[in-house]
Amino acid sequence: MGRHRTLLSHRASLAGCDIGKLIYVFADGALAVCPYIVFASRTPQSQYNDAEFLVGNILENEVGPALDAYDFHGRYAVGANTKCGGCGMNSQCGKGCPAAVISRGGRIGDVDDEQCPVPGERGRRGLP
Ligand code: SF4
Repeated sequence: MGRHRTLLSHRASLAGCDIGKLIYVFADGALAVCPYIVFASRTPQSQYNDAEFLVGNILENEVGPALDAYDFHGRYAVGANTKCGGCGMNSQCGKGCPAAVISRGGRIGDVDDEQCPVPGERGRRGLP
């Protein structure tokens, strides 16, 4: 276990989410703060409504203020789980991709267990 912890401490932590910077306009003019999270929210297992990640329609209104005001990390807490809370990489870790979590039926705040390098209850995941 000690050796394993040492190896993990030398691994890079997960990237953070660029939501709000990677905007996307759908053919009908709807503006998404991230296309992947909108697509994920539309999957059958999603617990989210896609409207949570749309900030207006460029064909119908001025979307700049709504986009500027969109604060994903103020609305949702990534890493709000006991595993991340007890992880030594918590402060440096970006917690992976919320869209991936949603696409698997999870809640924002759950561990992105496809990317997290720390072994979970079901064993080691995410290591190359
Ligand atoms: S447990 Fe959480 S904080 Fe630690 S590496 Fe995995 S996603 Fe990052």
